[in-house]
Amino acid sequence: MGLRDGDGWVDCDCGFRHWGRFGAAGLLLVRRDTPQPQVLLQLRAEWTHGGGTWALPGGAKDSHEDSVTAALREAHEEMGIKESALTVKHIFSDDHGPWSYDTVIAHSMNDAGAHIANPESTETKWSSIDEVETLNLHPGLKQSWVALKPLTTETLKN
Ligand SMILES: [Zn+2]
Repeated sequence: MGLRDGDGWVDCDCGFRHWGRFGAAGLLLVRRDTPQPQVLLQLRAEWTHGGGTWALPGGAKDSHEDSVTAALREAHEEMGIKESALTVKHIFSDDHGPWSYDTVIAHSMNDAGAHIANPESTETKWSSIDEVETLNLHPGLKQSWVALKPLTTETLKN
């Protein structure tokens, strides 16, 4: 473990406080070896921020990290995701000004080793793209899914 200087809250212009002094990043992993493409979600443990809701693996960026580095590090820590299994396709930035959340959309041709790797999540789920919005989503994901859904579908066209 290196220095983790990204931990901390930001009082944002949007009126909310967000986690991650240098912003945050998450991984939207799409599995393509199944009959329908499937998206990887984790059920956040009750004691966490937004506990009991489905979210993407992710967290605070450190000062030296770009969004892909941070998203893949968090996905590995939380869900054991293997970087070697992924191809990064697109980055969606939800930019609030003083804070931003970058979602890294990546594809894999297998489960990328996904499992519950730390106590922040209690369950993992591969969901079809259309099923995502029917789940009890973390507020941040619920808001960004409106933009992420068409972008994710777009990455599957090539
Ligand atoms: Zn904000």
